[in-house]
Amino acid sequence: TYYLSNEFPRLASSVSIPQKTMHMLRVISDSVQHADRIVRELHDFASPRKPLHKKTNINTLVEETLSRVEAPENVKIITELGNLPPIRADKDMVKRVFVNLAENAIQAMEKGGRLKVSTKKTEESVEVGFKDTGTGISKDNMKKLFTPFFTTKAQGMGMGLAICKKLIESHGGRIKAESEEGKGTTFTVELPIQQEN
Ligand code: ADP
Repeated sequence: TYYLSNEFPRLASSVSIPQKTMHMLRVISDSVQHADRIVRELHDFASPRKPLHKKTNINTLVEETLSRVEAPENVKIITELGNLPPIRADKDMVKRVFVNLAENAIQAMEKGGRLKVSTKKTEESVEVGFKDTGTGISKDNMKKLFTPFFTTKAQGMGMGLAICKKLIESHGGRIKAESEEGKGTTFTVELPIQQEN
């Protein structure tokens, strides 16, 4: 599809390419990308790789995540980063969790709102909070939140939070959610400071 979408406009000077052809090409390309995502997410859920633990500064990961996430103008993102000790973690995995939580929060604030990302150290762990002022989650849906394929989005796959849970648990950590319908949701990730085993 990449080849054809480059080639067709070039040919257009000698032959006329129907608009529908270009449109169908885009449909194929989008569908392939969608199928690719489904396969990757199923694979990551079914057989995740082992975490590659490296000394990690969680505040740096938060900052890197937020610089990658695109938020519309009506969504304000603020950070409140505490003093954290370095922990041993798989940077790519943890970042993937953070991106997922930030994107979910942004998608829950279609009419605008505020996402506050905060970090703090507790006795045994490092805690990262993603607090949004979005739609919130009903009590019924709260029970299904981390279940594979649970989604309320038209284009959703429902694997995001199931994968997040798996990745955080593979670090010996925990992920939890609190929500109030119409007010917003807070996801909290806890990662242990000691990970000798
Ligand atoms: P997906 O994004 O593909 O739907 P997820 O597993 O990431 O899959 O999320 C599952 C569902 O949990 C979402 O469809 C949505 O209903 C709900 N959800 C997740 N995060 C939030 C949030 N911050 N605010 C409101 N609902 C949320």
